[in-house]
Amino acid sequence: MTEEKIAVERHFVGSEAQHATLKAALIDMDGVLYDSMKGHTAAWYRMACELGIECTRDEFYAYEGMTGAATINILFNRAYGRDATAEEVKELYARKAAYFIEMGEPEMMPGAALMLERLRNAGVQRVLVTGSGQHSILDRLDRDYPGMFSPDKRVTALNVTHGKPDPEPYLKGLQLAGCRADEAIVIENAPLGVLAGHRSGCFTVGITTGPIPEADMTAAGADIVYPSMPEFASRLPLLLNALNNRQTK
Ligand code: MG
Repeated sequence: MTEEKIAVERHFVGSEAQHATLKAALIDMDGVLYDSMKGHTAAWYRMACELGIECTRDEFYAYEGMTGAATINILFNRAYGRDATAEEVKELYARKAAYFIEMGEPEMMPGAALMLERLRNAGVQRVLVTGSGQHSILDRLDRDYPGMFSPDKRVTALNVTHGKPDPEPYLKGLQLAGCRADEAIVIENAPLGVLAGHRSGCFTVGITTGPIPEADMTAAGADIVYPSMPEFASRLPLLLNALNNRQTK
């Protein structure tokens, strides 16, 4: 039995959804479609250091998926014992976004195009689910992954209030896809995003594309973890097969 079949059985055991088929993939952007987390963490670190707030660059990997305001509030509470005002959030997030752009365009994630192609060929709709408001990347989606995400199938910072690890972004993604949690999978690279996917009730795939250990993704509720995007893309047919042929009772 494949690792994929075991993971699917474990997720759906005893559930009514055993005969459901896969209709949608809810897909995170940073660290999944783009190798952009190095740039984001460097930009956050530079901004925080300028404010004189004690921090490490690596801690920003752990905050991936939160809204910009939530990350700024972690820094503000540490340094000043209070949340940032709306004006401070606006100014500091703009500064961080500018530093991110200064570092140049992040690379497309190797293997991501193949993953999307395989989902499309299997008749699975793709829904973008990101907490990002970074337009420098969002604007590139149509150029880099043409036809993969229709404009009405995107959840971004514009329509998310809570951000990950709240399940809200993925629940919105399910609404856009018009399907139930047992008919969709979440594809994530960060623990808070995995937790959001897990809480939404979807079968959640964790992919390690940065320094975050696989164990952190499992602890956050990932149903299966892959060591890289090319590895996930190559095994995706096995996962699709397992999800579309569930026998869990
Ligand atoms: Mg991500």
